[in-house]
Amino acid sequence: MDKIYDIIIVGSGPSGLSTALHLNRFAPGFGLDTLILEKSRHPRAKLCAGGILAEGGAVLAKLGLDLKEVPHVDVEKALFNYEGRGLVARFFNKKPIFRTVRRNEFDAWLASKAKERGIEIREEISVKKVESFEDYALVKTDQGDFRATVVVGADGSNSVVRRTVEQNPRSHVGRALEIIASPKNEENERVASFDFLVVPKGISGYVWDFPAKIEGKTMRCWGIYDSNAVKREGRAPLRQVLADEMKEHGYLLENYELKGHPIRWYEPANTPAIPRVILVGDALGVDALLGEGISPALGYGKIAAQAILHAFEKNDFSFTGYKGMLLRSRLGGALWRRTFMAKLFYRFKSARWQRIIWRRFGWLAGILGMAFVVGWEKKK
Ligand SMILES: Cc1cc2nc3c(=O)[nH]c(=O)nc-3n(C[C@H](O)[C@H](O)[C@H](O)COP(=O)(O)OP(=O)(O)OC[C@H]3O[C@@H](n4cnc5c(N)ncnc54)[C@H](O)[C@@H]3O)c2cc1C
Repeated sequence: MDKIYDIIIVGSGPSGLSTALHLNRFAPGFGLDTLILEKSRHPRAKLCAGGILAEGGAVLAKLGLDLKEVPHVDVEKALFNYEGRGLVARFFNKKPIFRTVRRNEFDAWLASKAKERGIEIREEISVKKVESFEDYALVKTDQGDFRATVVVGADGSNSVVRRTVEQNPRSHVGRALEIIASPKNEENERVASFDFLVVPKGISGYVWDFPAKIEGKTMRCWGIYDSNAVKREGRAPLRQVLADEMKEHGYLLENYELKGHPIRWYEPANTPAIPRVILVGDALGVDALLGEGISPALGYGKIAAQAILHAFEKNDFSFTGYKGMLLRSRLGGALWRRTFMAKLFYRFKSARWQRIIWRRFGWLAGILGMAFVVGWEKKK
């Protein structure tokens, strides 16, 4: 354990890999010794519907990576609705609204690209604790201790690194449940839906139904997201609400394997770093409104890499400027607006309000979405 790495990244999901790839892109001649520690082995399972918006594709394209290399479905139409009324999002040139991937394939692909660029990933090492000292940060794992000048916590919603940075690991966490099903005949395989029928049942979220390409076949990925952005007494159990909604579409939930996982969302007031330790992706928080985290995780990588390079240039590892850097970034702006919108929108919990919003103001949701939610990373 004599060696001190320049940077240790904990976790090789999109946020950790993107941080490493951006460091490699911005500072190829800087000679920074970067190591990623990953508790699983790629390709590893990750519960996720795999929807990647244009911003994620744009971040990857700037890294010289083409998302189309990964098996995917192009979603040409996305329906945001309540009782069948609402907003239809689509481009008239058939450009996809978003793409869906399977995370085992996507993350393994991204990890292979990082390895091709000389980034070292050590798999099946689980980080147990991180401690920050004056001259280095100590990373305690199940296979011994490591030291680094900077540690990046990219270890997801249940982040171990986060516990070193902030004392309140349970706040601002939503939950998502998901199943994979064979499609019913009538379904259009390029259509995705977001159904807000669950809001009056006390859920600050929606039920989704996305296409998913699995071993060459297009399946359906159903799930429910509850951001918990607005706390409710007497909220209906998520499983039951999902079961009821799926039944309406001819699916019996008990026939499928249901899995759940937390999604941490971005709260601007939270602490994103302490000296020598910074957080990215789910470890810090992603989108509260819809639970979108893959593209934001990729975007975090770019900002974190800039903050780390700045720290090495100035020989100042306090990371006191990281919070402001995030807030001033286009990604940070989109995330805090989504947190604000989630806290506001999910307050309109009655069926009457939801009907009014989606029947009369679906168009407004579209305009607000385009103006404040998406578009934080452009292709060029
Ligand atoms: C059911 C569900 C559906 C979702 N659907 C979508 C969607 O359609 N679109 C979208 O954009 N987002 C979606 N999300 C959110 C998205 O999955 C996350 O926001 C995204 O994965 C965050 O990436 P990350 O790299 O920060 O963390 P993760 O992808 O969680 O990666 C963390 C990595 O760290 C590793 N790790 C964890 N702990 C340790 C440790 N102690 N030591 C070493 N390694 C460790 C893990 O093995 C993992 O590889 C969904 C989430 C859920 C739960």
